[in-house]
Amino acid sequence: MSGDTRVVVIGGGVLGTSAATHLLRAGVGEVTLLERDGAAQGTSGAGAGFVNAWSLGSPDATGAEEATLADYAVDFYRELNAARPEAPYRQRGCLWMAQTERDWPSVELRLTDGPADARRVEPAEAEALTGGVVKAAGIHGAVLHPSSAQVSAERATKALSELFAAEGGKLRERTPVTGFVVDGGRIAAIETAHGTIEADHVVLAAGAWTNAVLASLGRFLPIAPIAVSRIVTEPLGMPGDLPLLFVKALDSGLKKSMWLREENGSLMFGANYGAPSRLTFVENGVPERFDSVDVEGVLEVQRAAATLTAAIPALGEYRNFRVKHGAPCYTVDGRAIVGALPGFENLHVIAGCNEQGVTHGPGFGRVIAEQITEGRSELVDADVWRPDRFAAELTSERDVAAQL
Ligand SMILES: Cc1cc2nc3c(=O)[nH]c(=O)nc-3n(C[C@H](O)[C@H](O)[C@H](O)COP(=O)(O)OP(=O)(O)OC[C@H]3O[C@@H](n4cnc5c(N)ncnc54)[C@H](O)[C@@H]3O)c2cc1C
Repeated sequence: MSGDTRVVVIGGGVLGTSAATHLLRAGVGEVTLLERDGAAQGTSGAGAGFVNAWSLGSPDATGAEEATLADYAVDFYRELNAARPEAPYRQRGCLWMAQTERDWPSVELRLTDGPADARRVEPAEAEALTGGVVKAAGIHGAVLHPSSAQVSAERATKALSELFAAEGGKLRERTPVTGFVVDGGRIAAIETAHGTIEADHVVLAAGAWTNAVLASLGRFLPIAPIAVSRIVTEPLGMPGDLPLLFVKALDSGLKKSMWLREENGSLMFGANYGAPSRLTFVENGVPERFDSVDVEGVLEVQRAAATLTAAIPALGEYRNFRVKHGAPCYTVDGRAIVGALPGFENLHVIAGCNEQGVTHGPGFGRVIAEQITEGRSELVDADVWRPDRFAAELTSERDVAAQL
């Protein structure tokens, strides 16, 4: 690759800003980041910011490659925080808790199949570790992953976009991509609302809008945008050193895990909700912005939270709250789609974050930068995320959603 190579990245979320920053640092001569809105206005503006070994110790565990990315992210965000203190970073671990004995086997997997430093925590220690936010009497047991870190997805993405511009990248916000100029099997240029930009390589990281951008090429990636929301309460005096929390509570109204963390003294929490709410973007299309989307599933999360007050009393104490929605994209095998799109050797995609893009974004950014500049990734064997690994029958987001 020569120093005058021009790469255009589409999408100013955590995946696009990570890719753009890594490309610049890999020595690409000209990197342009195109964002329709402002950085972190999409799903990254709603992310909870857990940087976690999601892929280890879960029934849907993916693999060692994702664990490598999680380790990489912890260092990446620590360094980002050193360069840009407005992107908060804290390494206080993640506490996986079982509300009852029935919930324990799935939590125990986080110990037996978890990261090397995972350890069991008795209820009394969980109460102490959380400064009393968790009540020992309300849980059966817990597992601590000490290395997990917490960031602000929104502030990290914004800080990354600013760092990219400060390091010499061209940040073009409010610049929607409207199409591609194709020459043979290559993308020759990108068409935007403000003119055409020539490119030697293109990285598409448009999150839930990926298939809308690809439509002009007649291409489709098998991903489905699933509605997910976070709830942030008024300040409740939550301790700033609270570990990340997960509660598995099969016996309550909550059939899955509920996640919780501290944010400026408030409690931030969420859980996946059921259909039809979770499928609203598959059924009705992805709106340009999520601000005014009314997702009924939030009520389901709040009802489930109310059944957990013996373990976490604060879930019954809040009076005011704000909600933010996002649309992480899921794939049928739980792994992302990263690499050159078959048929277009210079169009590279990062899609299908599976709601883990804050954790895996920095690593995917490095992978795509290395694939473009070196031909392959040094960090990890990226073949597991190849775009061409899916069955041809998956031709719509509904097909994908039906298999999740
Ligand atoms: C409630 C919630 C909690 C979450 N918690 C976690 C967590 O704890 N840990 C974790 O790892 N992950 C978490 N996630 C997932 C994580 O937030 C996502 O994986 C990640 O933000 C996806 O980033 P992205 O860059 O792919 O998408 P986005 O942030 O949506 O970025 C895509 C960008 O592309 C832009 N775009 C779209 N169309 C165009 C166009 N035509 N031209 C130019 N730009 C365009 C959009 O404006 C947008 O800014 C959570 C998500 C939610 C919603």
